[in-house]
Amino acid sequence: MLNIKNLHKHFGKLNVLNGIDMEVDKGEVVVVIGPSGSGKSTFLRCLNLLEVPTDGEIMFEGISITDKKTDINAVRQKMGMVFQQFNLFPHLSVQDNITLAPRKLKNYSAQQANETAADLLRKVGLSEKAKSYPDQLSGGQKQRIAIARALAMSPDVMLFDEPTSALDPEMVGEVLDVMKKLAKDGMTMVVVTHEMGFAREVGDRVVFMDGGVIVEQGPPAEVFTNPKHERTREFLGKVL
Ligand code: ADP
Ligand code: MG
Repeated sequence: MLNIKNLHKHFGKLNVLNGIDMEVDKGEVVVVIGPSGSGKSTFLRCLNLLEVPTDGEIMFEGISITDKKTDINAVRQKMGMVFQQFNLFPHLSVQDNITLAPRKLKNYSAQQANETAADLLRKVGLSEKAKSYPDQLSGGQKQRIAIARALAMSPDVMLFDEPTSALDPEMVGEVLDVMKKLAKDGMTMVVVTHEMGFAREVGDRVVFMDGGVIVEQGPPAEVFTNPKHERTREFLGKVL
């Protein structure tokens, strides 16, 4: 589904990504871990061109999205993204947050879009919040709505950038549960997280990044119990 080759991203003199190669298969859950500042967010943001790579190629479903001729807006509709800070539209109700993109970009009727929203709200366990506004929700509820909003476009891949890092501890589980269900239903996911329990339980593959490169990757059981590189061992020693 994703094929990333020799991805580089520089901000002026700062080299943040230094040659990333990665493939993500359909239905795979890839968990990206690594220290703060290692380029995890920049990597995710490059995948849907929120950041324009300095060099390298990203193929998504057989289309080169780094090719300037590619209609990136069409591609982005197939990629859902969930951020640490939720990024809900504060002036819109939960329902309108979810229906905005399908109505504008998929030409859904109000009724069609509302039905989709109702299905998704049921899926994330928040059916009773359709008419609420974001500031009336807890952090965990906001993030579940952000996930529902991303799903409303029926994406082929979901990108998560530390979706539980801004949450109070008691709300982390409800968001991870929604993500677990998504994974079980076969969604292709790239998840940046510090939740090592989630990585172990749900991840098909763990990728350890440091200094803008992939230091090592493999099945969670292998990377967590038998890390090959000193840098990985050091990082896991701090977070496990
Ligand atoms: P991580 O998500 O692993 O913590 P980031 O990708 O956010 O790492 O950041 C990696 C490095 O890139 C950091 O040094 C950060 O300051 C820098 N960086 C990220 N975005 C920008 C930007 N838009 N302009 C300049 N530097 C940036
Ligand atoms: Mg980050």
